Formats: sequence, C-alpha cells, structure tokens
Amino acid sequence: MPQPDLMDKVVALAKRRGFIFQSSEIYGGLNGAWDYGPYGAELKRNVKNAWWQSIVHFRDDMIGLDASILMHPRTWEASGHTENFADMLVECKKCNKRLRPDHIQGGKCPQCGNTTFSEPRAFNLMLKTSVGAMEDSSSVVYLRPETAQGIFVNFGNVIDSTHRKLPFGIAQIGKSFRNEITPGNFTFRTREFEQMEIEYFCRPEQAEAKYQEWIQARFNWYLDLGMKKENLKLREHAKDELAHYAAGCTDVEYQFPFGWSELEGIANRGDYDLKQHAKFSGKDLQYQDPVTNEKFFPHVVEPSGGCDRATLAFLVDAYHEETVNDAVRVVLKFHPKLAPIKVAVLPLLKKNEGIVAMAKKIKSELQKEMVCVYDDTAAIGKLYRRQDEVGTVFCVTVDVQSLEDKQVTVRNRDSMQQERIPLERLSGYLKEKLS
Ligand code: ATP
Repeated sequence: MPQPDLMDKVVALAKRRGFIFQSSEIYGGLNGAWDYGPYGAELKRNVKNAWWQSIVHFRDDMIGLDASILMHPRTWEASGHTENFADMLVECKKCNKRLRPDHIQGGKCPQCGNTTFSEPRAFNLMLKTSVGAMEDSSSVVYLRPETAQGIFVNFGNVIDSTHRKLPFGIAQIGKSFRNEITPGNFTFRTREFEQMEIEYFCRPEQAEAKYQEWIQARFNWYLDLGMKKENLKLREHAKDELAHYAAGCTDVEYQFPFGWSELEGIANRGDYDLKQHAKFSGKDLQYQDPVTNEKFFPHVVEPSGGCDRATLAFLVDAYHEETVNDAVRVVLKFHPKLAPIKVAVLPLLKKNEGIVAMAKKIKSELQKEMVCVYDDTAAIGKLYRRQDEVGTVFCVTVDVQSLEDKQVTVRNRDSMQQERIPLERLSGYLKEKLS
C-alpha cells in the first residue's frame, strides 16, 4: 500500500539528522540534485561497499573497473544514445515513460493507460559540455548517461591485461548524468546519480541460464541486507517493452511509499553492445576461445542498479516507529552492515572524569575495528533516542560501577535489551553481533 506520509517522515528525518540535503540549498536548491550529509555519506558508502564486496571480492568470475565520466563522443553514437534521445518527446505524467507523440494511440500511454502528458520538446537526455580551450562542435563531450559503456569500450583492454576466460563479468560503480524531464520522489529520480553496473560476458548458449542466475543473485542481495521481502518483487518486461536486440529484461522493484518502482534492471542483451563498438571503432572486439580458436562476440547479461535508489529504499525500509513509555520512538533498523554508525560510547555522568576518560578510551580502542562515536552532549535517555534515529546498532554505556568492575552496559538498538559485558570481551562481543 502506498504510504505518502511515510515518505514525508523519511524526507524530514533525512534532513534533520544529516542523511540527505537539497543541493545548493542556500541558493534555493537545484532541482534533481541532492547532497549526502554525514550519516548519508556513511550509509551510501556502506551500500556501495556491500555491493562491491558481494560482486567483485566474493566471486571468482568478476573483476572491477573505474572508467571516466567523459568519453569519446563516438561511444554514444555506437550505443545509440546520440540518436535515440534526440527526439521530440512527451513524458507520461503518471509513469514517466517518454514517448514520441506519434507513438501515443488513442491519447493513452501504452505503458500505464494514463492520458496526461508533458508538452513535447526536443529532448536529449544526455548532459552536454565541452572540453579544451575552444568551444565548438569538435569540443563537445557528454557526461555519461550510464556507466555501462565504459565497461564495453574497455572489454579488449581487460581481456588483454587479465587473460580472462568466458564466462566472466566486469563491475563498476560511478556517477551518471541524465537530463530527466521530471526529477522527483526525493532521490529516486535525479539528474546526477550513481550506478552500480555489471556486464557479464558469456557464450551465447549460456546467456539464458546466466540471466536467470543474475536475477536471483541480485534479488537476494537486497534480502540479505535486511530488506523486507514483502517490499520486493521481480517484474519481467513484456516483449513490447524490450529493446529490439534484447532477449529479456527483469526489474527488481521496491514498494516505495509512492508505489512499486524500479530499483534495478537485469537485461539479457545478446551481442549488440560489443558488435556496435566493433563497428564504430573498427577494432576487433571478438573473443577468441583459447582451446578451439573459435572467434565470436560474447553475449552480455547486464544487472544495472542505482546506488541512490538502493540507498533510499534501505532508508525507507529501515524506518520504524513504536510507542515506548507513551512516547514515539523512531528507529532506523538498518542491517548492521549498512548502519552508518555501529557503536556509540556514552558516559552516564559527563561530569565524572573517571567515567569520561574510560568512555573515551573505549571509543579510541573500538574505532580501530568498527565505526563508532563518543557522545556526552545530553542525558542518557536522549542520547539513546538520537542514536536510534540514525540506526546506531549498539550503545555502550559507562557508569560508576564500570570503574570498579570493568564492565559496561551494551544496549541493543532493536530490542532495547541491556547486557553487562566485561571490557575484555567487549570488542569480540560487538564484532560477533555485527557480522
Ligand atoms: P527509469 O525507467 O526509472 O528511468 P531506467 O530503466 O531508465 O530507469 P536504467 O537505464 O536501466 O534505468 O538504469 C539502471 C539503474 O540506474 C536504474 O534501475 C536506477 O536504479 C538507476 N537510475 C536510472 N536513472 C536514474 C535517475 N534519474 N535517478 C536515480 N537513479 C537512476
């Protein structure tokens, strides 16, 4: 069920507690661009690290890449972006599908049946800039609208330098830019965003099986990081939604407060991309089988996700309210891997020098192993609430008794249960619970 007030609460919390701010807010803001504050920067970094770890480090058939945002303009001719995004387009006001006006039949959006559209305009989704001292047509370059092409143009380099055998994939995380007509829904649709993309190369006959494997792997990634199953689903594209070269495409969708929407798309793209770049560059981008010497263009499965969208979904999914002692407790129940702060060390009495010194020492030891903070700026009840609101997994409290028995109180964010733990066991206890 769409819950618009949940979105308002998340947006308000994101600003109040320093997760996400409007870009250039002091100048009235820039539409379609957002800044990540102290907690948001940690959260987004954790999302990217979790992705990179599961995709690149934990798999033997994957390697990473970090290509540049500016690419040779021929790239976008080969990929079809220059031509295909230069049409006069209207955008469906309901599902945001961009359409050529002559493709609208009976005044209805072919995707959702809605009948209201934006005004038509010549629309190229790519943001243009120029490089070098001269500003003429030869200096025009685009800010990449997707990271995928950076992988395709490096296919030959990666094969030559790593001697990889099929099947294998290349992953990258990076910024992309699209001049969206209607940015909106907070960080869901923006003009500058980060993508987490994979191009998985395989033999043509392996493509369907690899496509199915990647759909499951990507769906499970969100579940493994604690996303609620009832808020996730797969949606297979109908034949008429597919690009002419694609054999299949399935989206991972999340039930945002504004409705089910795409988090990530997994596409079975055939051999279109490498063939196009071979044609436009004149380079041989075929793969040569080391045993049979057979040469062919590998087929490609492309799981392509948005880092900002995933981060927003994790934020919304973690939002939880409950009533405790007649007051509303707001908790962000992040998976420990994603929580911006793992542990907050809090002195019960900030005027007691012994307690403060012990708490600071605990923090300085723990920070070598996990992200933690020290805070003594309010009474303990308030400090707990503040940490709950940003999703800190554990609070460690030092009190007078700690000075004598060398034990501290560890409070669990979700259950609010408290446990006395001897100092020498503290780091091991926390590491075990956070893993
Ligand atoms: P949409 O239909 O929502 O515009 P898309 O199908 O055009 O998305 P892709 O080109 O497949 O998106 O891009 C892959 C992923 O990149 C998307 O699943 C999404 O997570 C992310 N993404 C694409 N456009 C944006 C955007 N404007 N803002 C934030 N994330 C985006």
